[in-house]
Amino acid sequence: MFPRRHFIGQLAAASVGGGAIAAGGRNPEKSAKSARPPANLPQPPASNNSPPTTLDPQREVRLERLRPREIEQAMAACPTLFQPLGTIEWHGLHNIVGLDAVKAHHLCVAAARRGGGLVAPPLYGGIGGLNQPHTFVMEPENEVYSILLRPWVEKLVREAVRQGFRAVILLTGHYGAGQQIVVRELAVRMSRALAIPILGTPEYFLALDAGYLGDHAAWGETSLMMHLDPDSVDLSRLGEPPHRGVGGRDPREATRADGEKLAETIIARLAQLASRMPKWDEPTLRRFIDAEAALVNRQLTLAATGTNAWEGWRNLRKGVLSDYGRLLAEEQFEAIAALTAKM
Ligand SMILES: [Zn+2]
Repeated sequence: MFPRRHFIGQLAAASVGGGAIAAGGRNPEKSAKSARPPANLPQPPASNNSPPTTLDPQREVRLERLRPREIEQAMAACPTLFQPLGTIEWHGLHNIVGLDAVKAHHLCVAAARRGGGLVAPPLYGGIGGLNQPHTFVMEPENEVYSILLRPWVEKLVREAVRQGFRAVILLTGHYGAGQQIVVRELAVRMSRALAIPILGTPEYFLALDAGYLGDHAAWGETSLMMHLDPDSVDLSRLGEPPHRGVGGRDPREATRADGEKLAETIIARLAQLASRMPKWDEPTLRRFIDAEAALVNRQLTLAATGTNAWEGWRNLRKGVLSDYGRLLAEEQFEAIAALTAKM
């Protein structure tokens, strides 16, 4: 998804950097003192069965498809919830309009099967979208004062914690400029307020070092879908360039092999994060929050001084954040914070 409108607003950059925001009236200083969830939230449900010692790679992880005992067993093994995000948007003549959410859902399901956790149904509806047929634009492209997505996802996160999840991964397959900022910013703020790790990121941030800098229905997204959901792609519908509503490298160069390589990079990192995040101690959680806050603060600052919200990461092409996904999975948070200073 690419920018069209002038960036019309900014959040106070300090709002996510200094622990100053309280979500839902909770005192962040109080709750940040402990990595454990606030006392008024229920603990993870006890399982009647012993947690599995090894994860069945083919097991069902889609929350809506599970019965109570299956949910309890999965949460006892790994209390991480994935929330895929996307929207309904034109993705060229060769891709389905639900691509963003379908892509994110596939990636989350594969990561949960490998590393643990459960996957909530994908949320369709986001910030921005190409001005093309069949696109539902729920909020303006560069709007970072979200009045629809932000409260909905915040409530989803609070509900996940109330249900006993102890880590949440918000994976957005839609790259509306405001969408990326809102998802990361709310994850930082809710991590601080609820004292559990919440990661909010577009999936391509985890594959920058594999050569994917995010595109729209072009080589990257089309390759990913050729691997993740082959029946959804029909390159014979594409025709000759220029391809309407496609942004990035020519999708005729997309291959299933490229999609597998990108997907594997993303899934491996998500799986590692899903298995480890619920076990992070308080210092690790604080280091994670500080790094993610530094990143989104930098994005907000650059977006506010540029012509649109994408200004904050135009220099991804220079490789400034290439190591983000690896560093995140390896929990080298100080290194991430250092990278953001170069943005
Ligand atoms: Zn897309």
